[in-house]
Amino acid sequence: MKRAPRYTAALPEQSFTADWTSLMRTFIKPDSDTCRSAMMKYMEQIIFELHDFLSRNVGITSQTSLKELATAFSDTRIPDQPEQKLSRVIKEIIDDLAPNAVNVASPYFVGHMTSAIPFFMLPLKVIVTALNQNVVKLETSKAVSLLERQTLARIHRLIYEKPADFYATHAQNTATTLGGFTDGGTAANMTALWVARNRAFGPVNGFDGIEAEGLIRAYAAHDVDRSVILVSRRGHYSLRKIPGILGIGNKNVIPIAVDAHNRTDVAEMERAIETYTTPSARTKIIAVIGIAGSTETGCVDDLHRLADICQAHDIHFHVDAAWGGPTLMSDTYAHLLSGVERADSVTIDGHKQFYMPMGCGMVMFRNPEHMNAIAYHANYVNRRGSVDLGIKSIAGSREANSLILASALNIMGRKGYGLLIDHGIELAREFADLIRAHALFELTSAPELNILTYRVCPPAFKAALDTDDADQRIAVDRMLNEINRNIQRIQRENGKSFVSRTAFQHPDAPDEKRVVLRSVLMNPMTDIQILKTVLDEQVAIFNAHFSGITPPV
Ligand SMILES: *Cc1c(COP(=O)(O)O)cnc(C)c1O
Repeated sequence: MKRAPRYTAALPEQSFTADWTSLMRTFIKPDSDTCRSAMMKYMEQIIFELHDFLSRNVGITSQTSLKELATAFSDTRIPDQPEQKLSRVIKEIIDDLAPNAVNVASPYFVGHMTSAIPFFMLPLKVIVTALNQNVVKLETSKAVSLLERQTLARIHRLIYEKPADFYATHAQNTATTLGGFTDGGTAANMTALWVARNRAFGPVNGFDGIEAEGLIRAYAAHDVDRSVILVSRRGHYSLRKIPGILGIGNKNVIPIAVDAHNRTDVAEMERAIETYTTPSARTKIIAVIGIAGSTETGCVDDLHRLADICQAHDIHFHVDAAWGGPTLMSDTYAHLLSGVERADSVTIDGHKQFYMPMGCGMVMFRNPEHMNAIAYHANYVNRRGSVDLGIKSIAGSREANSLILASALNIMGRKGYGLLIDHGIELAREFADLIRAHALFELTSAPELNILTYRVCPPAFKAALDTDDADQRIAVDRMLNEINRNIQRIQRENGKSFVSRTAFQHPDAPDEKRVVLRSVLMNPMTDIQILKTVLDEQVAIFNAHFSGITPPV
C-alpha cells in the first residue's frame, strides 16, 4: 500500500464555504468549455486510470490489514463545510481506496461469482445515472419502462420459448406480467416465493387470502398448521432467509439429500412430498425448488423429473437459475438446463453470468397472471391498469438497470454470451483434469457448469481414507480440513490469487464437515496457465507449512 486511505475529516488542504451560487453550479451541466474539459478529464481519469490500475494490478488486493483499514475509516463526523473537490475525491479513490479494495477483475481471482465485466458496462451505467429514471412508475420513466418490459420478454423467451403470438400479447400488456427486475437473486427468489405463498394460501370462503389476513388465519382457513419449502442441501442460503421474512419460518425449509453428483435426490424429494401431503401432516407445500447451477458446486438438478412431480401434485415449481440461467445462450450447453421451461418461476441474476455491474436480478413467471398475487396500488402511483412497474415488486423506487441488460444483449448477441459460457465450462473441465492428474489434490465435485470444488489431499491421506473405519476417515478429514482452511487463507493473504472455500456435510457423520476449495471460472481472461499458477502456489504453501504432516492412523 502506498499510503493509508484518508477517509477522515482531517484538515482540508483548501478551505471551502458552502454557498448557494457554487451549489447551483453542481446541478448544471458543465456550461463553459473549461468546465466541460474538466468533466472529460474526470471521466478519462475513471475510465483509464482506474481501469488501467485494475488491469495492471493482477494482484487481488493490497497487504494492508483490516485493522489498519478500520483505523483509517473511524472518523464518523460529517464535515461542516465542503472539504474536497471532485477531482480530489476521484484521485483519492484511485490512489488510496482502489488498491485496498478487491480486484475482482483479475484473472487470478477465481473464487467468487463476481468477476471482470466488459468495458462497455461502464458507459451504460453512466447513462442509467445520467437519465436517472425511476421505473417504479411510468411518470418517471415512460419509454424506459416499456424497454424494461421488452427486456423481460426477451429473457422470458430465452427460458420458456413460447410462440411469437404469446409475446405479442403479453410483452406490453398492462394486465399481465412476464416477470420483474430486482436488485439481485435473493430478491428474485423472494418474489417467486412470495407469489407461491400467496397462491398456496389464496382466498377460500370467508377468507381473503394470506397477503390480506396473515399467516395465522391462513393456516386456519386452509386447515393446516405448517407450510414448507422443499429444496436440496445445495440450495442458496437466501432460500432460508426468505421464509423468515415471509413468516413461514426457516426451519420449514426442508433440506433434501443430494446424490453423488450434488443433484437433488429425486426419490428423497418424492418421499418428502408423500410425507407432507398426507392429511395427518396438516402441512401445505408452498414450493419445490430446483437448482440450475448451485452456488457451491455449479450442479444442475434433474429439472424434468422435479417438474413431473410438481405437476402431479400441483405444487409451485421454482427454479433457482441465478447462476446457471445464461447457459441457455450457449448452443453447446443449453441442454444442461433442459426442463427449466417447465418451471412456474425462474430466478436469473444479471450481475453474474450476464456480466452486468452489481444490482441486477430477475424473476420470470411461466403464467403471466401469477404476479397478480403480489399487486399493490396507491393513489398517486401504481394505479390500476397502468404500466407502472412498481405494482408487482418488492422495491419501490428502482433504477433502470434493465437498460444495461437491453443494451448488452444487443452488443453481445446470444452468440457472444454463448462464447463466454462455453469458455467457462470448457476451462472448468480442463482444470478438473489438471487437478485429477496432480497427486497432491483431490477433485471433490466435477464441474457440470463452470464451478468445481477440490481439496489438498496428499497421497498418504488418500491411503488413510481408504478404510472401512469411519472414525479414522473422520479423523483424517478433520486434519485435511485444517490444512485446506489454512492454505486458502494464506493464499488469500498473499494477495496474488484467490479461490474460495466451502464445506460439505461429511458422508460418515452429519455433524462433521469436509472443507473444500471452490473455483468459479467466468473471467474470459483466465486460462489454464493461470489456473496452473494458482495450483502451483497452493503446492508451494503446502510444502512450506505442511510438508512433514502425516495422517492420524
Ligand atoms: C447468487 C445466488 C443467489 C443470490 O443472489 P444475490 O444476487 O447474491 O442476491 C441465489 N441463488 C443462487 C443459486 C445464486 O448463485
